[in-house]
Amino acid sequence: MSEPGQGVLGLFGGSFDPLHVGHLRLAMEAREALGLAGVCFIPAGSPALRAAPQGTAAQRLAMVERAVAAEPGFSVDAGEVTDGAAGPSYTVDTLERQRRLHGPQRPLVLLLGADAFARLEAWQRWRDLFELAHIAVATRPGHELIAAAGDAPLAREFAARRGEAADLAAAPAGRIVPFAITALEISATAIRRRLEMGLSVRYLVADAVLDYIHSHQIYRTPHGH
Ligand code: ATP
Repeated sequence: MSEPGQGVLGLFGGSFDPLHVGHLRLAMEAREALGLAGVCFIPAGSPALRAAPQGTAAQRLAMVERAVAAEPGFSVDAGEVTDGAAGPSYTVDTLERQRRLHGPQRPLVLLLGADAFARLEAWQRWRDLFELAHIAVATRPGHELIAAAGDAPLAREFAARRGEAADLAAAPAGRIVPFAITALEISATAIRRRLEMGLSVRYLVADAVLDYIHSHQIYRTPHGH
């Protein structure tokens, strides 16, 4: 773990199948916009609510480790992919583990894309998330903060908890803070499709990730392009 031991820590979970520059820019811009001491990437073991990743846990972890190695403000927590848990990864469990690691007082901020935030009500024990960490929502192209309006439970939480970057250091958890990031319409799904078709993904992923994908022949079709 390379992030300093104090200050507001960003936690960024995902399948990262593979990690792409949309993820890296989200983390970088979150760090700047929210004044984070660091961002810890947490690759999911077996993500809940979605199909199994194509890359193995070890491959997805290796790609994240290689991509973030060059950036001192970034670190990786391999706990989800190495604990051997057979069940799905729930974010609430991830946050409980992070809370134990960092103690009750340290401000923690879960970083989410707006598309992920909009589906929050479907997550396991979703209301407990607010007791464990703040949530910062990056506005992602095509996925505006639809949860911000209306009378749904998530909209009510959003209205009650909405805050600004400056609020994050004042409490360990509980705020919801939207922040704008450079719009990059890049998805891991589209990257996997390109690779299956034998097309290049250079500049969509970090060079270290590109090298790893090619040397380990991940995301090829069985016929091998
Ligand atoms: P897939 O296409 O397989 O669904 P993905 O590219 O959305 O993958 P995930 O690992 O599922 O990647 O995403 C992890 C987090 O990163 C989520 O909170 C998601 O909203 C966010 N995210 C992914 N891509 C972008 C992007 N281009 N811009 C902003 N946020 C992003």
